[in-house]
Amino acid sequence: MSDRDETLADLLAHGRFLGGLSSVGVAWPPSSVAAAARPDGSGDPAAALAAIREEIGDCRRCKLASGRKTIVFGQGSPRAELMFVGEAPGSEEDEQGLAFVGRAGQLLTDIIEKGMKMRRADVWIGNVLKCRPPQNRNPEPDEILSCQPFLEAQIRAIRPRVLVGLGKFAAHWLLRTAEPISRLRGRLGERDGIPVMPTYHPAYLLRNPAAKKDVWEDMKTVLGLLGRPVPGPGE
Ligand code: URA
Repeated sequence: MSDRDETLADLLAHGRFLGGLSSVGVAWPPSSVAAAARPDGSGDPAAALAAIREEIGDCRRCKLASGRKTIVFGQGSPRAELMFVGEAPGSEEDEQGLAFVGRAGQLLTDIIEKGMKMRRADVWIGNVLKCRPPQNRNPEPDEILSCQPFLEAQIRAIRPRVLVGLGKFAAHWLLRTAEPISRLRGRLGERDGIPVMPTYHPAYLLRNPAAKKDVWEDMKTVLGLLGRPVPGPGE
């Protein structure tokens, strides 16, 4: 079994374990988180997000707690039609408590504002993990599982019209797959009835600027789904 398949099998086994907890009387996800976000999207998304933040508290649910400085909840409009999901906070994000504020974040801002002609403040930007892994190593299965009820609740609270998975970890989490990002990218999938566009991570684009054109193709599809105009070159 490859490392990736092993990780996926591990995740699925943990998921089954957590799902089975209710049969022995343990609520999972915690009821306050489940209640905060109404599955039909009704209710006040800002209040639902505030309840989720409160439930997270000074989180010690996984081993990342000991090394992080700040919990990065994610930020943007609670009524965002578009939600970007990245991997995990880096050092700048850990310092500031905000998602995507380092170099990759600047590129994401350019994609949103210069490319898509949307305001960064009008979308939601978050991550699979809310705490920085040491030395920016990859997220581990137990960390993803500890954090996932909160991202799931955020998606239910915001109920965006489109989700964008930035890079392998976000795409895998959103689409519950372990396919390589090179194969996933550009192919629309779905999570809980919401279209998901997997695309390359901005940090990858910093290393491989030639791939920016692929991401732009993906963002054009996203704009189409949102019913927004696709800006032409130089616009
Ligand atoms: N990379 C991510 O995946 N998320 C951030 O918030 C910053 C960098």
